[in-house]
Amino acid sequence: MDRICQVTDDELKELVAMAERAGTDEEVCPVETAYLIAERTLARTCGKGVMCRDGMRQVYLILKDFVDGRGKGEDDIEMLKEILGVIEEVADCDLSYTAVTTILSLMNNYSDEFDAHVKRKSCKKLICPGCHTVHIDAAKCQGSGACVKVCQFNAIKSKEGCFSVIDQSKCTSCNACISVCPNGAIKGAGAVKPQGPTEPAPVGSFGAGGGEGGGRRRRRG
Ligand code: SF4
Ligand code: SF4
Repeated sequence: MDRICQVTDDELKELVAMAERAGTDEEVCPVETAYLIAERTLARTCGKGVMCRDGMRQVYLILKDFVDGRGKGEDDIEMLKEILGVIEEVADCDLSYTAVTTILSLMNNYSDEFDAHVKRKSCKKLICPGCHTVHIDAAKCQGSGACVKVCQFNAIKSKEGCFSVIDQSKCTSCNACISVCPNGAIKGAGAVKPQGPTEPAPVGSFGAGGGEGGGRRRRRG
């Protein structure tokens, strides 16, 4: 079908390529990729088509809830598929058509991961901020303070000669601190927060343990 609007967008093309790697690339979460596709499409659409504008906005908001751990259940997944199906049928725009077919394909190919985000608030790849947590392993931390400098949310408590701890009430799970730790002490974990010290204490005073999982890339933004 010839579509009236034939806008193309390099960033969207990159996101579609990312979607194709979702099954093999440990740094690509299919749910986050779907969200980024909706976000980019909304930013680039001309807004003349009602479904490209209002429909895509709904898609974006639902997917934002998924990555932020606010998905409400099966109903959300069904509603999302329904809206995507309507946009696919009526889209006069290459941009929106590409976006909805890619998102639908992600939902079909990775339905278990969409379910995990929405029903258990769990991101297997430890990327989506509302579906994982970030922790410092007190047994590995040497108190370098490198993580404190990169945290834009002032979420890391530190003290001279002590291991640092993350204040979970401030941490946004952005993952920015993980890669800067010279000791590999900062780790992602599931949405349920593991028990651990809540205040800094002298380095070496805490036994093995704390956290699970491995280092991840910094998430969007
Ligand atoms: S967690 Fe890593 S970067 Fe942060 S203070 Fe400890 S050793 Fe340094
Ligand atoms: S994950 Fe982000 S917000 Fe949380 S402590 Fe690390 S840098 Fe700060």
